[in-house]
Amino acid sequence: MDHETFACRLQEAMASCGMKQVDLIRAAEERGQKLGKSQVSQYVSGKTLPRRDVLEILSGILGTTPEWFLGELNESGESEKPDTEADSDAFISLPVVDSADESVEGDGSGASVGQDGGKSEANFEQSRSRNMREFKKSSKLDNVLYDVRGPVADEAHRMEEAGTHILKLNIGNPAPFGFRTPDEVIYDLRRQLTEVEGYSDAKGLFSARKAIMQYAQVKHIPNVSMSDVYTGNGVSELINISLSALVDTGDEVLVPSPDYPLWTACVNLAGGTAVHYVCDEEQEWYPDIDDIRSKVTPRTKAIVIINPNNPTGALYPKEVLEEILAIAREHNLLVFSDEIYDRLVMDGLEHISTASLAPDLFCITFSGLSKSHMIAGYRIGWMVLSGDKRGAEDYIEGINMLCNMRMCSNTPGQSIVQTALGGHQSVKGYVAPGGRVLEQRDFVYEALNSIPGVSAVKPKAGFYIFPKLDVERFNITNDEQFALDFLHDKKILITQGTGFNWKKPDHFRVVFLPRIEVLQEAMEKLADFLSYYRQR
Ligand code: PLP
Repeated sequence: MDHETFACRLQEAMASCGMKQVDLIRAAEERGQKLGKSQVSQYVSGKTLPRRDVLEILSGILGTTPEWFLGELNESGESEKPDTEADSDAFISLPVVDSADESVEGDGSGASVGQDGGKSEANFEQSRSRNMREFKKSSKLDNVLYDVRGPVADEAHRMEEAGTHILKLNIGNPAPFGFRTPDEVIYDLRRQLTEVEGYSDAKGLFSARKAIMQYAQVKHIPNVSMSDVYTGNGVSELINISLSALVDTGDEVLVPSPDYPLWTACVNLAGGTAVHYVCDEEQEWYPDIDDIRSKVTPRTKAIVIINPNNPTGALYPKEVLEEILAIAREHNLLVFSDEIYDRLVMDGLEHISTASLAPDLFCITFSGLSKSHMIAGYRIGWMVLSGDKRGAEDYIEGINMLCNMRMCSNTPGQSIVQTALGGHQSVKGYVAPGGRVLEQRDFVYEALNSIPGVSAVKPKAGFYIFPKLDVERFNITNDEQFALDFLHDKKILITQGTGFNWKKPDHFRVVFLPRIEVLQEAMEKLADFLSYYRQR
């Protein structure tokens, strides 16, 4: 590593900001990073290099980027070394040094080269590099993509660490936008905390499962008993469990495109192949029935329906669901129906649970508190098995096995399911006329459609909109690049359409959870960006 180049650049940046070492220490402290005096002096003298997180903080303070510091370092072909000292939290140790005069004075932190002039550490480094073993991620992850928190989000994180404020319109996380958990839920959680310290039954607490079972009854989901209800650490965990228990190598599962990408990711992670059926933007984003039919093969085991849909905001009418179920019936497919946005339906429409139309099929319905109840952080989701379960005994045994293996879902979270599902539903007010979600939806829909080169179908449910870009007008061939360019120029984070397994680079998703004033600013910035943006 080129310590000298780093030190020169650090000195240069400090000089141009008129900062002394003590100023740097103070500024870092303000950003929550404690730096010792000798630590900074070693950076400045080129004796040690900061770890990546410290480097990012220094970059933010000095108005530069880690790349500027690291550009030269990377050319030397070396990468950062992990910190090997337990007590040190911000050092990369020096490379091999043989002469005592290159050793570094310690600051009492035990972080620098030892009293033997660095020889023992140097020997350790030498033997380490000789026996270097590379740990690579499993090849099971080769076809796994989760770009909602992918490279563009990583870049946003880096910018935030460097002190830039980023408006995050990439994740459907209600709490940061002022959608608070109802007081009654918090009160009940506090009251029960001491009673939910232990593991629960692997499927969940009786009270939670009873409430979920009753909710299934309200949704007319047939043939559901207590043993058919499973709680999970969010729907996410149950998507993973239900697919891991089912899918063998080579099995195919029909998944919508665009989709909530965890579905595709988990099918592929389980060794299967997610086969995407298209949802048609010209038809309110409803699944294209002919396309589904054309994609069924002898290897197809199941079909995934996401209704209300993320990312399109579509709500499927009964006829569309019945057409999909007819295909499932014809080909003996298991039906997974992800209905996590089921209470966030607007315009006086009604959500119909897929399973309610299929007493003769084996269906698994997924829902939870993260979205329809705006309680995402407590990690509470559930799945309900319904319909005709004959022939699924072995699969259910597999599900039980995986649920047992993870012991149970988090019990404090389970303890509030009954409260959240019953009684007054504050979420109703959000989607009724005058409600926040509805008004924000209307605003963002109008604003997007008024931008030349952008068009969007009005979402009927949830809190996402999936606009289309005129790719010729903007010369867009890579939508991740589009999202990155927008992030860099306007400090707004969106997710590109390909992140939702949409094949063309012509869409992106906006989360419309922020208040209208914030959305207005974001839409103005987007309009301005698109007035000059032409991808190179
Ligand atoms: N299913 C859909 C369609 C989602 O959009 C999400 C989260 O965004 C999930 C499942 C995961 O939700 P949970 O927070 O319950 O894990």
